[in-house]
Amino acid sequence: MQIAIDGPIAAGKGTIAKQVAEKLGFLYVDTGAMYRAISVLCDWDRVNKTDEAAVCSLIEKLTPKLELRPPTENEQDGRLCTVILEGKDVSWEIRSEESSRGSSLVSKYLCVRDYLTEIQRLLAKNQNVVMEGRDIGTFVIPDAQLKIFLTAAPEIRAKRRRQELIARGLNPIFNQVLKELIDRDNQDITRPLRPLKKAAGAVAIDTSDMTIAEVVDKIVRLAKERLKYGWPKR
Ligand code: C5P
Repeated sequence: MQIAIDGPIAAGKGTIAKQVAEKLGFLYVDTGAMYRAISVLCDWDRVNKTDEAAVCSLIEKLTPKLELRPPTENEQDGRLCTVILEGKDVSWEIRSEESSRGSSLVSKYLCVRDYLTEIQRLLAKNQNVVMEGRDIGTFVIPDAQLKIFLTAAPEIRAKRRRQELIARGLNPIFNQVLKELIDRDNQDITRPLRPLKKAAGAVAIDTSDMTIAEVVDKIVRLAKERLKYGWPKR
């Protein structure tokens, strides 16, 4: 079974997708981590992320090896998944503010999206997955048996995002977090190439007034119903 979860920044996609995957025994795939890894790769090679041709030639030259897997026992440090780029563990490096900004930049380029989409489709083809991102239900696996569009009010998402940053030892100003979040959302929503939008047939869930457990239960219930009774065709 394939479950696609899309939505804007800090709608709770990562935590929720991971818990749904654990409850169902499926693989959790964080596609945002892949775009972040490309941003880190550009930094390693001092490639200007606003230069599409340079980013594309780096990918063509390196065909970077990217592995996503559940954290092992020794890696239980709060990460949702372990990300290995060119043999190096970048699970935390990809979470920096620089790679947040960088991933939004490189995700506009066709060469990056095509390269990562192929990896994502292969993962979804070979096993049961809960895959989260921005274009999963609309483009990567449009025939997924369950598609979810997660949202929450921007102020609530900014509050959550600020808490995440505080937990990492930072002390950001709320208005700055909110502004950055709205800017990055706008980039994802307005980009011509595979923008963030609700997929046809996706179930929209507004998580503003829901706990994580409530959202997880709702998605697991929907998944079990669809496994039992089948699912509406697109
Ligand atoms: O989800 P996360 O914030 O880690 O994603 C980082 C960035 O990667 C997003 O802001 C978005 O620009 C891009 N992304 C994307 N398509 C996806 C997943 C992420 O364009 N499927």
